[in-house]
Amino acid sequence: MLVDLRSDTVTKPTRAMREAMFRADVGDDVYGEDPSVNELEAKAARLLGHEAGLFAPSGSMTNQVAIQLLVSPGEELLLDSESHILAHEVGAAAVIGGISTRSWPSADGKLDVDLVERFVHESLAYHTVATRAIAVENTHNRGGGTVIGIEELRRLRAMADERGLLLHLDGARLWNAHVASGVPLAEYGRLFDTVSLCLSKGLGAPVGSVLVSSRERVERARSIRKRMGGGMRQAGFLAAAGIHALDHHISRLADDHIRARRLAEALEPYGITSAAAVATNIVLLRRTGLDRLAEVASAQGVRISVLGRDHGRLLTHLDVDDDGVEHTIKVLKSLLC
Ligand SMILES: *Cc1c(COP(=O)(O)O)cnc(C)c1O
Repeated sequence: MLVDLRSDTVTKPTRAMREAMFRADVGDDVYGEDPSVNELEAKAARLLGHEAGLFAPSGSMTNQVAIQLLVSPGEELLLDSESHILAHEVGAAAVIGGISTRSWPSADGKLDVDLVERFVHESLAYHTVATRAIAVENTHNRGGGTVIGIEELRRLRAMADERGLLLHLDGARLWNAHVASGVPLAEYGRLFDTVSLCLSKGLGAPVGSVLVSSRERVERARSIRKRMGGGMRQAGFLAAAGIHALDHHISRLADDHIRARRLAEALEPYGITSAAAVATNIVLLRRTGLDRLAEVASAQGVRISVLGRDHGRLLTHLDVDDDGVEHTIKVLKSLLC
């Protein structure tokens, strides 16, 4: 048995998803003629309460397109120090967008609007850098799948409106936040000017992300995506997987959350994790020698993610069932004793 808990990106398309891909109606999407891509974009926009959507190969691309829409070169994007945009997108905001970034310190992915507001810079004179937009992440990846509550996000919107700022949501795992909190996707969506959503994480599609925003912004986003090399042709085969994922794989994320909690509760007595900190499908691990543990576990069919020598994580997803969870607990317990 092999249980791969390194990430929720490792899922392989289910048989039903492959069949949907096989049957997909396709056309040249650079000409706007791929019916499956158009359907996926409209569907995602509708779910999030936005006017239009744009399909792209990755969440990094939808994030980067979004921040280029909101922030001009030389202006500033404010975001948290552990955000994906800062930590995992290879400096693209600076390299591609010419965007200046500054960050507030973030420990566990929670949002404190009062703290964020203290970081906002206004344009005081020609030589200052003005904050133009703020980006937040929900659920928060490096924070351990943290869900940011809708009340705090409403406060963020009110603060942004008062200060004349735009808001981007990196919602790579917004589906998980929605399922864990019961807050409708559109409630989240309406608070942001742009939202980026991943289909290739817990939703189980092989490739793809969608950016949603206003019709006008999405039109501009098409040019930015093309400039970045993200114009795809018969992408409907991939979009069909995304449509299938939206139709069939959102509510089942609740199972991933239950399994993550089961893992954390079983492992907590070994001092390696905290069950109370598990909000969605991510279990953070803290322990010295994790790299060694990961090596031995891997030999016994359990793959875990090591992010640093004493910092790792487990992610549950579509391809991890109850047997996989029990096998993982058995293997890790035997190694932790
Ligand atoms: C995975 C992820 C992304 C996008 O990653 P890609 O690998 O580029 O699709 C963006 N933001 C967060 C928070 C993520 O977890």
